[in-house]
Amino acid sequence: MVNAYPRTLKDALTLRAEGRRPMGGGTDLMVRFRSAAGVLPRFQQSLVFLRGVDELKNLEERGDLIAIGAGVTLRELCESPLIPVVFKNIMGQMASFAIRSEATLAGNIGNASPAADSLPFLICRNASLVLTGQRGDRTVSVADFITGPGKTLLADDELIREILLPREEFTLSFHKKVGGRRSDAISKLSFLGEARREGNNLFDLRIAFGSVAPRIIRSEEGEALAREVFSRGGNTKDIEGFYEKLITPIDDQRSTAEYRKTVSLNLLRRFMEKLREQ
Ligand SMILES: Cc1cc2nc3c(=O)[nH]c(=O)nc-3n(C[C@H](O)[C@H](O)[C@H](O)COP(=O)(O)OP(=O)(O)OC[C@H]3O[C@@H](n4cnc5c(N)ncnc54)[C@H](O)[C@@H]3O)c2cc1C
Repeated sequence: MVNAYPRTLKDALTLRAEGRRPMGGGTDLMVRFRSAAGVLPRFQQSLVFLRGVDELKNLEERGDLIAIGAGVTLRELCESPLIPVVFKNIMGQMASFAIRSEATLAGNIGNASPAADSLPFLICRNASLVLTGQRGDRTVSVADFITGPGKTLLADDELIREILLPREEFTLSFHKKVGGRRSDAISKLSFLGEARREGNNLFDLRIAFGSVAPRIIRSEEGEALAREVFSRGGNTKDIEGFYEKLITPIDDQRSTAEYRKTVSLNLLRRFMEKLREQ
């Protein structure tokens, strides 16, 4: 089977159903299947390149949602007035300008890495995916789509067609990515806390941790506890104790489990302090 370069979504789906793997910008795939220097990567499967499919390049408001086509690059998202500032800042810390000019958000999700930097935000914001195949479309949440490191619900004949991001306002968005250097570094860990507070009323609070468990950590129980602790002016130790059990990092070449857990809990505490200071 040979690699294919379709120009329409219909052709892309036919080629996908024949068993080809989708490639967006290739910035994950080219690295994962690299071989010796100066030698082309050795892919296990033929590829269907999605770059030429204009139907995947939509970026628009759709009612209460922002629809992001699978072919839109991170750089285009960073430059769009439709995208929330906090998400632009997150994507602006991913890789380098050159990589962001090729890489897609769909590819970051499709790669399903626990260290994928877009995931804490997308999961915090209850984003979903439209998956498309020759049998039609289905919608799944990003949280459900990723079932483990490198594992997703994508069927063998499907593509991610678009990402649907609810349009929401928060009064506090506190994001930190901890990497080996300021840019072009894979996360050792990341944290996102968002809240909507008006006076003493806390209308919404969301918390997500990246790179510290096989999947992104987000917990309704933890968020309810954080709201309750905030309302009674309680000690954040209770919330830290809850999340400490969910945070199960590994030691690897980028960091130690102990460092990841300690810094994650420090960031959670800092988020709660910022919320009180608002
Ligand atoms: C130097 C370097 C630095 C990096 N830094 C970061 C970083 O800081 N943070 C970070 O999160 N990532 C980083 N990455 C990883 C990578 O750039 C991102 O994950 C990027 O968003 C992948 O997008 P892509 O379009 O290139 O994906 P591809 O490589 O094309 O694909 C990635 C995966 O998604 C699947 N896929 C792609 N498009 C679709 C689709 N439409 N439907 C279904 N499946 C699809 C592919 O089959 C593959 O499994 C870095 C990579 C490099 C090389």
